[in-house]
Amino acid sequence: MLLAANAAALPDSFDGRGGEVPPAVTLKAPASAIAEDIRLWVEFEAPDKAARQAAVDAGVSVEEIKPGAAAGFASPEALERAKDAGLKVKTKVSLRARFGSLDFPEKDAVYHNYKELESALRSLAASAPDLASMISIGKSTQGRDIWAVRLTKGARGPQRSDKPGVVFLGTHHAREHLSTEVPLLIARHLVEQRADAEIARLLETRDIYFIPMVNPDGVEYDIEGGKYHMHRKNMSKNADGSTGVDLNRNYAWGWGGQGASSRPGDDTYRGPSAFSEPESRAVKAFVEARPNLKVMLSYHTFSELVLYPWGGSDDAIPDAKALAAFKGMAGEMAKMTGYTPMQSSDLYVATGDTCDWAWGAKGIFAFTFELTPKSMWDGGFYPGAGVVQRVFQANIRPALYLVDLADDPYRAAKEAAAVVAAPSETAKGAAAQ
Ligand SMILES: [Zn+2]
Repeated sequence: MLLAANAAALPDSFDGRGGEVPPAVTLKAPASAIAEDIRLWVEFEAPDKAARQAAVDAGVSVEEIKPGAAAGFASPEALERAKDAGLKVKTKVSLRARFGSLDFPEKDAVYHNYKELESALRSLAASAPDLASMISIGKSTQGRDIWAVRLTKGARGPQRSDKPGVVFLGTHHAREHLSTEVPLLIARHLVEQRADAEIARLLETRDIYFIPMVNPDGVEYDIEGGKYHMHRKNMSKNADGSTGVDLNRNYAWGWGGQGASSRPGDDTYRGPSAFSEPESRAVKAFVEARPNLKVMLSYHTFSELVLYPWGGSDDAIPDAKALAAFKGMAGEMAKMTGYTPMQSSDLYVATGDTCDWAWGAKGIFAFTFELTPKSMWDGGFYPGAGVVQRVFQANIRPALYLVDLADDPYRAAKEAAAVVAAPSETAKGAAAQ
C-alpha cells in the first residue's frame, strides 16, 4: 500500500542525533542470501511449563501454546536436541512444504514494506506539522533508517520534552508484519481524530512515539521475491555463516540466560553480546535520550496475549506496588482486546527481551502484546489482509489507555483496586492492603 505522497515536502524532519534526515537510503548489501530453509514447524506434547521450557532451551522457537501441547520452529538440530531432552513430537512439517507458496505483494498488499512505511510516515508528518514529526532513531545492520513518528504539541523531532512519554514499537521480529500495521494505524488515527476532545487532550499533555518497524532489514528479506520466508531475526552475518540475531533476546537485562539460544543458527539466537545489534542499540539510545518515557508497548504476533515482566525469570517483579499496577493495566487491556493477560515467563522463561530491559534498567512500564490470530492454523504470522482493520480497531482503546496513564502508571493499581472494592465495604478493606 502506498499513500498519495506529499512526502517530498517534509521541511523539518530530524534524525535522532539532531541532524537533517538524508533524503535517500544507501544500502550496504542486498537483503538476500540465506541458504535453503530447512527449518521445521513442530508440534510436541507439552503438558506443563517444564516441557515448554525444555523445548525453548533446546533451541525451538515456541510460538503457540495450547492445552497439553506447544508448537514452534526448529532446525533439524534443535529438533534432535529437543528429542534428546525427552520431548515427544506430535507432528512436524517442513516450512517449505507447508508455507512455500504464500505471497506478500499480491493478496497482502495492504501491508507496508519498508519504503511504503517510510512514505506513510512522511505523509503523516507532513499532514499535521504542528503536532507530528519524523525521526530516524539510527540505522539497521544494512543501513536502513529506523523511523519513528512523534506526536505531541509544542515539541518536534529530537527536542526534549518534560511531558510524560509513551513509545509503541513494532516488528522486532521480521515475519510479524501485523505488528507494523497496528502502531502505524494508531498513529494515523490520533492525527485524523485530533479534534476529538480526549485525543486532543492527550496530544497536548503527552509525548507519544511510534516506531513501527524496528527490524527493517528482516522485513524486507521476509517478503523478498513475493514469497514469505518465515524470517524472525535481523540480517546480521554471524561468525558461523548463518544469518541473524533475535533482537528480542539481545537486550541487556538478563542477557545470556535461559531461553535464548547461544547457537547462531537458531531462531532465538541472542547474539554475541548484549546490544550487539544496531537495531537494539538504536532502541536503547532512543530510550536513554528520553528520560520522560514512562510507558512502552512492544507489538508482536501471534497468540492474543498481554504480557508483562519478567520474561527472563519465574519471579514476580519485586516492587509490589509496581506489580499491582502492571497487573491492573494488563487486566484492563485484556478486557479491551479479548486477549489473555499474564506474566511473560508464564509461557516459558526467555531472557534478553525489550520489556525486561525497559522495566529493569529504566523503570518504564513495558508490555508485550502478541496480536492476532490465536493459532498458526488461523494464519499464524500471515493472517492476511482481512484482519488488519479489525486488529487495529481492537487495539485503539488499550493504546489510548496507556497514553493516558503515562502521567502516573501507578494509577492503574488504584483504579483496579477500586473496581474490586466496589461490591462491599469488606471487599474494599481487603483490596486496600
Ligand atoms: Zn515476536
